[in-house]
Amino acid sequence: MQDNQNIKKNLEIINSKIEKAMIKAGRKDDKIKLLAVSKFHPAESVIEAIKAGQKLFGENRVQEADKKFSEIYQNHSDISLHLIGQLQSNKVKNAVKIADCIESVDRLPLLDLIEKQCTLQDKKINILLEVHTGEESKSGFYTEEELYSALDLLAENKYPHINAKGFMTMAPFTSDEKLIHKSFETLRNLQEKCKKNYTTLELNELSMGMSNDFEIAIQEGSTIVRIGTAIFGERNY
Ligand SMILES: *Cc1c(COP(=O)(O)O)cnc(C)c1O
Repeated sequence: MQDNQNIKKNLEIINSKIEKAMIKAGRKDDKIKLLAVSKFHPAESVIEAIKAGQKLFGENRVQEADKKFSEIYQNHSDISLHLIGQLQSNKVKNAVKIADCIESVDRLPLLDLIEKQCTLQDKKINILLEVHTGEESKSGFYTEEELYSALDLLAENKYPHINAKGFMTMAPFTSDEKLIHKSFETLRNLQEKCKKNYTTLELNELSMGMSNDFEIAIQEGSTIVRIGTAIFGERNY
């Protein structure tokens, strides 16, 4: 909040760090999307970022996102919102209403609920499957069996309104870079396996990396980095 004047500058810094990390990783010509995570920051901060050219935003909580972005969408229709927080079943309706992508699909029953709401709202939606890859983060599919059940159904086109685009994960909160690498590597390996097994799905996205570990994530193949604090400042919970 106090950092509104710095948002433009912070975006420039992050974008140039992303570019440097891409070069270092030998990925100069890849596309990496910057998801600006605006949770706990007001609409004014989002608008500041939009003025600086940012179009892609991330929010954790449906209610907060609905309130904030319903207002923002009125004047800015060309922006896009991803939901990245654990999604409660009773929030799916509004989640489908406001988001272009739900990155935090972490259990099979959510797919039925999302499909049902998309049908009612006559809307297609992108999703990522969130996978548990690090000891300390709690959310995400825990077992490959459950993940494969979801992918089987998606590949059978049981959910015609849902486009599965790839995977998301959170690395453990640790200063041990080896563990962070390992977590992201796990997701990349899983993606490679799934791309071979599910050739009809386009599982190209890897959403991994936050303010503290996005450079490692880019080394490990990330295509979406989700950055809050380094753009909007500390959050006041
Ligand atoms: C809050 C959050 C982020 C952004 O975290 P920062 O450390 O502020 O960059 C990214 N991903 C998820 C899932 C989050 O909940």
